[in-house]
Amino acid sequence: YTPLAEADPEVQSIIDDETWRQFSGLELIASENLTSLATMEANGSILTNKYSEGLPGARYYGGNEHIDRLERLCQQRALKAFNLDPAVWGVNVQPYSGSTANFATFTALLQPQDRIMGLGLPSGGHLTHGYYTAKKKISASSIYFQSFPYQVDTKTGLLDYEGLHKNADLFKPRMLITGGSAYPRDWDYKRLSETAKSQQAYLMSDIAHISGLVAAQVQNNPFEYCDIVTTTTHKTLRGPRAGLIFFRKDKDPEVEGKINAAVFPACQGGPHNNTIAGIAVALKQAADPAFKEYAAQVIKNSQTMGKRLIEHGYKLQTDGSENHLLLVDLRPIGLTGSKIEELADLCGVTVNKNAVVGDTSALTPGGYRLGTSALTSRSMKEEEMLKVADFLHRMTQIALEIQGKVGKKLVDFKKAAHTHEGVKQLKKEVE
Ligand code: PLP
Repeated sequence: YTPLAEADPEVQSIIDDETWRQFSGLELIASENLTSLATMEANGSILTNKYSEGLPGARYYGGNEHIDRLERLCQQRALKAFNLDPAVWGVNVQPYSGSTANFATFTALLQPQDRIMGLGLPSGGHLTHGYYTAKKKISASSIYFQSFPYQVDTKTGLLDYEGLHKNADLFKPRMLITGGSAYPRDWDYKRLSETAKSQQAYLMSDIAHISGLVAAQVQNNPFEYCDIVTTTTHKTLRGPRAGLIFFRKDKDPEVEGKINAAVFPACQGGPHNNTIAGIAVALKQAADPAFKEYAAQVIKNSQTMGKRLIEHGYKLQTDGSENHLLLVDLRPIGLTGSKIEELADLCGVTVNKNAVVGDTSALTPGGYRLGTSALTSRSMKEEEMLKVADFLHRMTQIALEIQGKVGKKLVDFKKAAHTHEGVKQLKKEVE
């Protein structure tokens, strides 16, 4: 047991550099968070050595008495964190990620080429909800299933529930999928369940982005209306990188077996027990009253930052936010998300370019996405959010100045940004 720094200084030094980047900069990527030391310890533990294909009490390998305890504990904590009755809901804690949790769910409940409807990617949906382009079926969820995405209203950026209901009536999906990666508003699960019921379709909610907020009860509750809820564990929930599948077992006695068999052996092999330990730790923290405060602060922070950006004259998609994320539309000021992402990186601020409603190019989208989960984990509050919004404004002004001098090509922009004195100054300020 030689410590990493001694056994492999090269990897240790990369970890050190990344640690410095994460804590000297401002992490504003909406799908990221800073997990706790306890979670990271469990995630980096000796549990990575163990194979445990199967489920607690029914494994394909010996030596799993402690792993069985761990997985059961994680399941109990998952149900507790989301306030779920174990007689009504079950959970599988083995998915390696959100993508595999979603694909295992489809594998469990659908037949190949069944019809699914999820929020379109350009509207803020996720790849795994049936994404394809005019040229290509991109996601396995569109390769193996017939997908007809629904969209947000092009004027308001809000979900078009009426259009969705009408299209569901025509398309007749077997599964309606809610949830997304870039939708700044809460979801009306009651209305969605009415649409799903009218088609006798499953209602699945992928709450990957907002699961921490749902656990803290500061967002609408999908469990009230959905048959299946999937989530990643590493976004607002603040755990290690993985996925969970919750299934409602009181209405369909077969669903539990179908979901479990779809995770293993259909889609995965042995569970990552170190990750399951990390999830268990994060779920204990999510059930603590302090986490409720954290989640409420995440939303206050995003709303404060959004308001300030609007005061600075920016257009936000849906004109604000009800969760942890904001979408800034740069088209009215003639910039692209790629340029802001590039400049932000140079300043030690991480954001990501993102499509805004009505965008014609996915490669050079007209906006960027911000999220407040990670900064809130660093105990930042409204006061700091105002400073961050002012900072983003100054950065955007520099972007406009550079573009004014060198023109619209990204390569020229990058070159000029690297040597711009104002950019160096902003980076120093962030550190
Ligand atoms: N579902 C949603 C809504 C997401 O936003 C993401 C990731 O960003 C995923 C699923 C996929 O998660 P993973 O990257 O863990 O596969």
